[in-house]
Amino acid sequence: MEFHILTLFPEMIEQGLNTSIIGKAIEKECISLNTYNIRDYTTNKHKKVDDYTYGGGAGMLMQAQPVYDAYLAVKNSMPETFKPRVIYLCPQGVPFCQNLARELSKEESLVLICGHYEGIDERVLEEIVTDYVSLGDYVLTGGELAAMVVVDAVSRLVPGVLNNEDSAVTESFHNHLLEYPQYSRPEEWRGKKVPEVLMSGNHKKIEEWRFHQSLERTKHFRPDLYEKYLKEHKK
Ligand code: SAM
Repeated sequence: MEFHILTLFPEMIEQGLNTSIIGKAIEKECISLNTYNIRDYTTNKHKKVDDYTYGGGAGMLMQAQPVYDAYLAVKNSMPETFKPRVIYLCPQGVPFCQNLARELSKEESLVLICGHYEGIDERVLEEIVTDYVSLGDYVLTGGELAAMVVVDAVSRLVPGVLNNEDSAVTESFHNHLLEYPQYSRPEEWRGKKVPEVLMSGNHKKIEEWRFHQSLERTKHFRPDLYEKYLKEHKK
């Protein structure tokens, strides 16, 4: 799977994603990470990419031309008829979640656009963006952290990225439930023992215990998800 990221700060994305599991996935060529510096595409002789907003207001806005030309550079590197999903990370978008990550992991290529300052001129967004995605109800200084979160969450669902494919199926948000608690060695730490059932070797019992824990945790920490789980399992 290919990620193409349009940003004013490519080094931030590259440094942030070139380590650990995602770094290894790039090395193994399960995913590729391509960054495009929007400033390289400006036709302004001072390399300016932003200007004042019409109608007044605080702050500067990224102009349409460099964003569009950076997008064309990506688009022109793809087969002519191929239409990639183009995601603008912004507070106005749909909240990012595991289901969306799963859906996006099935794409061949994703183009992610990171805004800065007050955002990006609406006209270029209307022209090229297919999806508006938000990280949550707060305002970041730029889209880079949001793009990194999307790349990370989507990549680990791409076959071959995780060593144990099961971990993406049994973990939190699968089926609207949070994951059960987990323990490693030693069997006792500061007087706290690992629940006996986990050492029983009885896989059916372990599975039942884990499922029960998942239900209880979800009910406690995320009643909104628990409601969704109940609704879907009443059918
Ligand atoms: N003026 C914009 C508004 O009020 O909606 C906020 C612009 S913000 C300071 C600059 C950039 O950060 C945005 O263009 C967007 O790319 C990114 N950004 C900010 N908050 C975000 C969020 N919650 N999710 C995803 N991207 C975000």
